[in-house]
Amino acid sequence: MEINFVDLRAQYLSIKEDIDRAIAEVFTNSAYILGPSVKRFEEAFAEYCACREAVAVNSGTSALLLALKALGIGPGDEVITAANTFIATVAAIIEAGATPVLIDADPVTRLIDINRIEAAVTEKTRVIMPVHLYGLMADMDQINAIAERHDLLVLEDSAQAHGARLKDRPAGSYGIAGAFSFYPAKNLGAFGEAGAIVTSDHALARKIRRLRDHGSERKYFHDLFGYNARMDGIQGAVLGVKLRHLDAWNRRRNRIAAKYREELSGLPVTLPPELKHFYQVYHLFVIESDMRNELQQFLSRNGIPTLIHYPIPVHQQKAYTEAGMARNSFPVTEKLAQTILSLPMYPELRSDQIKYISGKIREFFGEEYQDTLVTEN
Ligand SMILES: *Cc1c(COP(=O)(O)O)cnc(C)c1O
Repeated sequence: MEINFVDLRAQYLSIKEDIDRAIAEVFTNSAYILGPSVKRFEEAFAEYCACREAVAVNSGTSALLLALKALGIGPGDEVITAANTFIATVAAIIEAGATPVLIDADPVTRLIDINRIEAAVTEKTRVIMPVHLYGLMADMDQINAIAERHDLLVLEDSAQAHGARLKDRPAGSYGIAGAFSFYPAKNLGAFGEAGAIVTSDHALARKIRRLRDHGSERKYFHDLFGYNARMDGIQGAVLGVKLRHLDAWNRRRNRIAAKYREELSGLPVTLPPELKHFYQVYHLFVIESDMRNELQQFLSRNGIPTLIHYPIPVHQQKAYTEAGMARNSFPVTEKLAQTILSLPMYPELRSDQIKYISGKIREFFGEEYQDTLVTEN
């Protein structure tokens, strides 16, 4: 049985006609950068995120960077964020000139440990940047309460959480702004690099719009230092079509997650947490096992691709150690890096494939697992 980790081709084929027509329209009107397709997508995505505005940019990393810059964050400022995250979260803070202050993961949610945030606040702290990793939102009610007590801004790294909700409010709508990535394999993926910032603060949106286009609102008038971070017209066209399917795709991810839970119950693996009031969108289905490496190799021998998100924590990456972050120790994040395993997860994954994957995991714990226990004794 052929199994992919994600299957972008299957998704394209399922909506090919609409996608091809939308792309052809970009070619016909030659609006290759920004233009009407991007504007329409911005309006639809803002509404989807229950925000007044969305600003389309050229990647999720740019979305984080431009949001920080527009909030006036720079040298001397501290930004509190999660140690268990993708490198881009921390890279954007450093690129803005600010100092990242990492917080270890909560062993249950695997997200920023909210109980450790307040102890990390100093007089230099300006922003809390929670990361809604794997499609599960951080508890934004608690984070907003902490931010209010200390007069801090909240920027949500929502790159893995398009459509995730906490009590019916979507990711990106809790903070002053939310940053999204449309990297092809994300829940909402472009056909190349793309990202967006959502916010209900008009002045902030206006500033981000200027920052993405060399600091100018009017061509050749530059009131700010800025960047070239504009979204391509083709990406706007693709995303506009795909956004209409996002809720259905997220529902399918939820059904797949439920099936995995059923098939994997009783095994010595930790499944993703299920939390009341949180609607997860399972960007990844991440299990934990003390025998992760052996399990991964066994699955690979059986034609099942898996990945580790992420194998080396940010503070242990070469460039970041050299920047002084190695002084930190984050035991939960470090342990997760040794035990986590992401199983295939995408809306088109079929029941028979989930059964096959789960069956092989059962087999591993039935035979190989028992063997290793015997040899260890
Ligand atoms: C993907 C991702 C980003 C960066 O997005 P790009 O579009 O790849 O620049 C940032 N943060 C997290 C948590 C991500 O998963």
